[in-house]
Amino acid sequence: MPFPRYDIRKVRNIGIIAHIDAGKTTITERILYYTGKSHKIGEVHNGEAVMDWMPEEKERGITITSAVTTCYWQGHEIHIIDTPGHVDFTMEVDRSLRVLDGAIGVFCAVGGVEPQSETVWHQADRYQVPKIAFINKMDRIGADFFGTVKQMIDKLGANPLILQLPLGKEQDFKGVIDLLQMKTIIWHQETLGATYDVIDIPEGHQKEAFLYREMLLEKLAEIDEEIMDAYLNEIPIPLPKLKQVIRIATLQLQFLPVLCGAALKNMGIQPLLDAVVNYLPSPMDIPPIKGDNAHTGKAETRAADEKSPFCGLVFKTMLDQGRKFSLVRVYSGKVKVGDVVYNPRKAVRERIARIFRLHADKKERLDEVKAGDIVAFAGLKHAATGDTLCEEAHPIILEPMSLYKPVISVA
Ligand code: GDP
Repeated sequence: MPFPRYDIRKVRNIGIIAHIDAGKTTITERILYYTGKSHKIGEVHNGEAVMDWMPEEKERGITITSAVTTCYWQGHEIHIIDTPGHVDFTMEVDRSLRVLDGAIGVFCAVGGVEPQSETVWHQADRYQVPKIAFINKMDRIGADFFGTVKQMIDKLGANPLILQLPLGKEQDFKGVIDLLQMKTIIWHQETLGATYDVIDIPEGHQKEAFLYREMLLEKLAEIDEEIMDAYLNEIPIPLPKLKQVIRIATLQLQFLPVLCGAALKNMGIQPLLDAVVNYLPSPMDIPPIKGDNAHTGKAETRAADEKSPFCGLVFKTMLDQGRKFSLVRVYSGKVKVGDVVYNPRKAVRERIARIFRLHADKKERLDEVKAGDIVAFAGLKHAATGDTLCEEAHPIILEPMSLYKPVISVA
């Protein structure tokens, strides 16, 4: 499905942050399935996932590179930047965190917040990345939704905002109670979860649902006067208003919206995609990128505006069938195929031979790319990871990627 017209407010550049084995690959596959990009579905076997495309990854069975894949949901274009969950690849994590605008934190309902998720989480905090959390594997024996939420507070210093309650757990996990709509979502197992029913909250769960709804409204009332007034006067609060306040608070890093599901059983993915669109930032929502003028050394910023001078960051280079591709996050302006861009660190001019949008299974050729987008350029011989590309008349060097090495805690 081609994206009709590029609207930066409808772009989401996101990563999935997870401890290894929490289900990142399964969730990514399901997202591609539901958004129509991949028809391969079933249990992930080592090295067979759509996102794992480098031979080394195939051998090791873990995701170690930061590939990008594009999908479409509710009129939005979502770029998923693969973020390694393995602590050995901290620099790779850092690079991908540098270019994404928001993240899904995936946790295993049995394992809770594990040490490696803590490491990556704190890295994401350093870049002030707004996040939503998905508690996966609710179907597994020992699944503990509330225990995992508590660990988010204790270990991550997060302020969880529970938007869903699990309906049943372990083998009886059936769906979720949506605390915003006060409805229950039950997935149809026999159709691979592509369909679901929205029904009233079962009687036995109503008390718990109302209790958590109250807690949710109280949290929102603390930060929004309109909700406070409506809450105190017992006036119903419209759903769009609730979503708007949650969005703003998430972008301001005040809350961590929490959802749950079981990716392997295809449960929870559609609401997760809705939450990405509703609560994670567009490139317009993030602060202008900082850098230094390459001539004067003076600090400058570039907002995500296609009318301002072009600048972008090469966050990865890769070889594919003998050709070099530079993965670039475009922060401002626009460039076309055939344009010459300037690399101030190397003082070289290079022509962009081709521009590609990266999908899980193919590359789509584009004529031009605008602020906010993440694409691959072909034809740049000199550009290396970390380099800025810009207009020669407006030379800027974007802030270098951090060399920060977190202290890895040993149990
Ligand atoms: P990653 O290392 O985070 O990419 O994790 P994977 O997606 O590879 O998942 C790790 C293992 O957990 C695989 O065997 C998956 O089939 C399994 N898995 C993923 N999601 C679920 C789930 O919701 N429930 C159960 N029971 N297993 C899951």
